[in-house]
Amino acid sequence: MTDTVSTTAPVYTVPQERRIVTAVPGPRSQELHQRRQAVVPVGVSSALPVYIARANGAILVDVDGNQFVDFGAGIGVTTIGHTESTVVAAAADQLQDVIHTLFTITPYEEYVRVAELLAEHTPGDHAKKTVLVNSGAEAVENGVKIARKHTGRRAVAVLDHAYHGRTNLTMAMNYKAMPYASGFGPLAGDVYHAPGSYPYRDGLSGEEAAARTIGYLEKVVGASDLACLVVEPIQGEGGFMVPADGFLPALQEWCTANGVVFIADEIQSGMARTGRFYASEHFGLVPDLVLSAKGIAGGLPLAAVTGRAEIMDSAQPGGLGGTFGGNPVAAAAAIAVFEQLEKNDLVAEGARIERALKPALLELQKKYDVIGDVRGIGAMIAIELVQPGTGETTKVPNPEAVAAIIAHAAQNGVLLLNAGTWGNVLRFLPSLAVSDELIADAVSVIDDALASL
Ligand SMILES: *Cc1c(COP(=O)(O)O)cnc(C)c1O
Repeated sequence: MTDTVSTTAPVYTVPQERRIVTAVPGPRSQELHQRRQAVVPVGVSSALPVYIARANGAILVDVDGNQFVDFGAGIGVTTIGHTESTVVAAAADQLQDVIHTLFTITPYEEYVRVAELLAEHTPGDHAKKTVLVNSGAEAVENGVKIARKHTGRRAVAVLDHAYHGRTNLTMAMNYKAMPYASGFGPLAGDVYHAPGSYPYRDGLSGEEAAARTIGYLEKVVGASDLACLVVEPIQGEGGFMVPADGFLPALQEWCTANGVVFIADEIQSGMARTGRFYASEHFGLVPDLVLSAKGIAGGLPLAAVTGRAEIMDSAQPGGLGGTFGGNPVAAAAAIAVFEQLEKNDLVAEGARIERALKPALLELQKKYDVIGDVRGIGAMIAIELVQPGTGETTKVPNPEAVAAIIAHAAQNGVLLLNAGTWGNVLRFLPSLAVSDELIADAVSVIDDALASL
């Protein structure tokens, strides 16, 4: 090791390598899948129906003994790595002490500590307060509730290609009707979908894209009725679009000038995924409210709304909360995640992963004309696939190529996820524990998959 700072080297309980010993899915997974089909509805689907028995670091082990390099991390949840040892220890200790009281009946220190850590690590040095909830969608719902109470206004704006969840309000906030909202209406009203910034497809500068978004908000919604604008600084399910320079700051400035609460949905992009604690930092944003979830507790369910104290305090006593919100075990795990991120400088790992992955994908783009775009920041990198030869002209989406690459990779022990409005984006969302060697290994598998298209 050539480390200049002393760090605690992670000890892995599963060898960090891919290893395929049966067909994928193997016989035991197939058996479990049969059982599942009798009792789990088809609405709950699984991207890769291999049933997982163990997980550690960047590796998933299925019930047949196959090992997969995990480039999904449960959709960006196990950012710290699977079963990270300090998270496991903190949660185990907490299980012995107290599992549940309900913070709104009798509180406990862990909740307060997580709120302090979020105040410290979210962008901006203003006074901040935090409410803890169970899921990302619940954080979005609470952010909107608080913004409405604070402003006394009704309308909520989101951007095209957004994803915010599967509850009643959030399914109205998503861009894609299918599969998230189709047939599940009536949807919540007063949700407006403004155009965003998608440099690969719209070719607009940040200034031009912001003018288009603001024009929509002013004409279609009306600033005086708009409670909040909810944006993902780097869109997740939409396909990891990094907005053009200046786009997000212009939106924030407009929100501030018009009394609109600017909410950053950092549920996927936050918690050190992009080489900063929050992706907002890459764009110089100081959101009024920041939503955290996925990566916050090493895999335990926890989510948060953190924001300006005066906005957060606009909700009346009893107006926020929920039975399981800020559960002590999940909160203890989150404290361990923050400690690991700080102590071992894991925030820098996002940049390391980008350095290992992005140039390799740009090389693949030179070889294969189905790769239209390579984009993303840190451990949030994607390639957008288009029909061969259309990349310079029409950019016709190629979801079939993405599906073929994912299938090939799965057979060879690499778990990849798709994304994007047309399902034509291949996203890399590994844990920060993934090594450069595993990245290079996975890229070689993808190279083979592209060659065999
Ligand atoms: C996953 C996600 C959500 C919803 O989170 P859940 O915990 O699944 O409810 C909201 N916003 C973004 C950006 C997400 O990636």
